Amino acid sequence: MFKIGRNDKCWCGCGKKYKACHERSDEENLKFYVENGYPIPDRHLILTPEQIEGVKKSAKVSVAIMDELDKFVKEGISTEDIDKLVYEMTSEAGGICAPYKYGDFPKHCCTSINNVVCHGIPSKNDVLKSGDIINIDVTTILDGYYSDMSRMYMIGDVSEEARKLVEVTKECMLKGIEAVKPYRPIGDIGNVINDIADKNGYGVVRALCGHGVGLKFHEDPIVNHFRTDSKTMVMVPGMMFTVEPMINAGTWDCNVSKKDGWTVTTKDGSLSAQWEHTVLVTEDGYEIITL
Ligand SMILES: [Zn+2]
Ligand SMILES: [Zn+2]
Repeated sequence: MFKIGRNDKCWCGCGKKYKACHERSDEENLKFYVENGYPIPDRHLILTPEQIEGVKKSAKVSVAIMDELDKFVKEGISTEDIDKLVYEMTSEAGGICAPYKYGDFPKHCCTSINNVVCHGIPSKNDVLKSGDIINIDVTTILDGYYSDMSRMYMIGDVSEEARKLVEVTKECMLKGIEAVKPYRPIGDIGNVINDIADKNGYGVVRALCGHGVGLKFHEDPIVNHFRTDSKTMVMVPGMMFTVEPMINAGTWDCNVSKKDGWTVTTKDGSLSAQWEHTVLVTEDGYEIITL
């Protein structure tokens, strides 16, 4: 099932053999999904208690950085300066910024302003002004463990329209996370998020998704934020992934910059917002790791 040998140690960290611990209950819990052809996570997607502790330490660094940014992300700061702060704080904590040189990404975090959906590249030319909304996305590697999170910041006086988008997007993330339950398909998350977006007349970005995280930057499962009735991967305790809805004030359609190959913008020019947490599936629900 998870390709755990019966005589191997159980995934839960009890130290007992799998056959003496979770083998039977796993079989019962997953029976329906196996019979109906849902993808079942591979063993390597289930983190051991030691690995979970490692990601939690990494998350402490990410959270401290974001908290500290609250003081600096104001009118007049450039996204290049934000990037420098993220780099300095990460290095001081003994960590590495995962985005730097990920593919050919040139900076240490993503800064996505207004109609930029995600993957905005920090630049000295992008200076924050009153009325802007910006997503800052930080991924820290500490001792080999990855924690990924992002927040929105509202600069000076923002429009009612922008404030509402930022708040509803946060609600989308939190309600999506509340849908995280063991032995349920991961598509539940997107179904909840899409309902909230629909009620507000917003578009849910389809081209980008949440992802497994912890031992790598991007890993299975794919976490879509839009509605689906397809058979999505079953969530099991010990899985870790991000929930990071990108919500557009207009339609879900996006463009990727031909110039830099990274910056994603809304096709209709409307505002876009995003919030992100790293989440662990527990035996009775979820735990937000990046709190
Ligand atoms: Zn992120
Ligand atoms: Zn992410």
